[in-house]
Amino acid sequence: MQPPTCRGLSLLSGGLDSQLAVRVLERAGAYVEGVTFETPFFGCVAAKKAAEALGIVLHVVDFTDDEIALVENPPHGFGGAMNPCIDCHAAMIRRAGEMMTERGFDFVATGEVQGQRPMSQNRQNLGVVEKTSGLKGRLVRPLSAKLLEPTVPELEGRLDRSKLLDISGRARDRQIALAAEFGIVDYPSPAGGCKLTEEGFCRKLKDLKDHEGLANRRLVELLVVGRRFRLPGGSSVILGRDCAENAVLRGESGTVIAFSDIPGPTALVPVVKSEADLELARGIVRAWSRGGVGREAFRSYQIC
Ligand code: SF4
Repeated sequence: MQPPTCRGLSLLSGGLDSQLAVRVLERAGAYVEGVTFETPFFGCVAAKKAAEALGIVLHVVDFTDDEIALVENPPHGFGGAMNPCIDCHAAMIRRAGEMMTERGFDFVATGEVQGQRPMSQNRQNLGVVEKTSGLKGRLVRPLSAKLLEPTVPELEGRLDRSKLLDISGRARDRQIALAAEFGIVDYPSPAGGCKLTEEGFCRKLKDLKDHEGLANRRLVELLVVGRRFRLPGGSSVILGRDCAENAVLRGESGTVIAFSDIPGPTALVPVVKSEADLELARGIVRAWSRGGVGREAFRSYQIC
């Protein structure tokens, strides 16, 4: 086997295309490491699993503040829900580009396929992402590379363009065939994995954005915990759905409400806007506790 002729840092979500990108780049002569991003909206479990299966080094980047800033103000707008895909993708590539420079890689790569996703992967938006990420000539899309302008490592002859591919469109047959060729058997379905595309989650996110705002990172992280109620005075109530969520809520800042002597949920009111709201929050805990209706003996306390 020939020694690698260049070094690539490839965005790895764990999905099939991102895994194929790594193998295609390796076949074209590159040494490849992966980079993945973590926020309260999407995790890195699939990426870690994929990196292990591929046998490559994986860098995990906390991307929470970047993503919250984009949800607050996405320069290229949202997709079908509150998913700022074009800007999110460009920001990830920009972060990967910074790592490329710091760590001595020659290029950044992605598993994007031209024409696969109507919003973020059409030819025009692939160009927008390259331009806004500031990586002109150093962003390789190995699965569609032959349909795109040659990049610097290709022009220098360090990445063998003849081994890169010309996949386009939404059909998956070529990717499935390549997976079999490379022996890739474990990958999540292409859709899903990002809560910013889920309607139910986005309703909660929009409610938080409209009321408390998104500056408090912990309130954003808590969106995955409990049922939500918005009270007439403007306070929000987070109600635990099981023991694990109750335990999380008992450790948070705000007013915690729970019965100490009968089974039932714990409620957290992060910011109490009125005494009437607090009484309503107690009523919610009563209603959801076994034998709670009519009882007064709450354990209600403030954690700061
Ligand atoms: S689906 Fe989510 S993680 Fe993926 S580009 Fe869109 S906003 Fe970013």
